[in-house]
Amino acid sequence: MKLAVFDEWRVGLVAQDGLVDITDRVSGWEPVWPYAWMLRLIGEFDSRRLEWANLLGSRTRIPLAKVRLRPPVPMPSKIIAAPVNYVLHQKEMGGAGGVYAGAQIKTIEDYGLFLKPSSSIAGPGDTITLPFSGRRTDHEAEVGIVIGKTVRNVTEAQALEVIFGLTGLMDLSVRGQEDRPYRKGFDGFCPIGPWIVTRDEMPDLDQIAFRLWVNGELRQEGHTADMIYSMCRLVSLASYQTTLYPGDIIASGTPAGVGEVRPGDRLHLAVQGIGELSVAVAPEPATPPADMGSWFEKFLVARGVPQ
Ligand code: MN
Repeated sequence: MKLAVFDEWRVGLVAQDGLVDITDRVSGWEPVWPYAWMLRLIGEFDSRRLEWANLLGSRTRIPLAKVRLRPPVPMPSKIIAAPVNYVLHQKEMGGAGGVYAGAQIKTIEDYGLFLKPSSSIAGPGDTITLPFSGRRTDHEAEVGIVIGKTVRNVTEAQALEVIFGLTGLMDLSVRGQEDRPYRKGFDGFCPIGPWIVTRDEMPDLDQIAFRLWVNGELRQEGHTADMIYSMCRLVSLASYQTTLYPGDIIASGTPAGVGEVRPGDRLHLAVQGIGELSVAVAPEPATPPADMGSWFEKFLVARGVPQ
């Protein structure tokens, strides 16, 4: 089953020839904050999926071309992200010509996981404004794991049951020495979509190919078989740190091929079995307020490598 958020944050099921609005079937949907509708739908999914699936057959389908798709989880309680989870990406970052050439790039075993703010989420067709004109910002193509249950301390063996589904994800990143949550936490730095595909439609999480293009040029080609920590291990590790809630997102890491994103670029991600996600980069980078103060100038230039 494919679940989408569209128009004014309504929730729907995606079929081949359109989308079915089921917002009115999410319990308590009217009075609650719309950003919570998908969270509630995910939380209730197991007990109500048959009822909702029936609506796919009985309700009018809205052509996809007539809706504006939104990020499928507009406001998760958190986005947890894997810092370096593909060996070839680890090598490209610290290798000759890499962004951090000469630095020893470590992996999750050294860095642990990090958090991106929920406000960094963007959706299909959104435009992202780069925060700095003089600093390199990269694309990272990833598969996003959507959590389906409230859990803590799950083992790797239990983790599969906790995964509700998957979505496409880009982990945009300013390069430099600041901590990851700062460099990767700007508004729009976590596009997700185009929808969530539930796990039952993704038979093998370790066999998913994905690609990212910039202005039509293929830049990244990855495969989840190459992950250092599998999706289940990531869920297990994340759940040992924090309680996971329905709708939480885990960014599972990027393969090799990361590269610079420039104003005016168009990014396009295709994930096997999920779908395609495109976002635009605004033609001009952000401009800080004129009276920002001289202290801010140090943030406008990249310094050093991350620890
Ligand atoms: Mn990443």
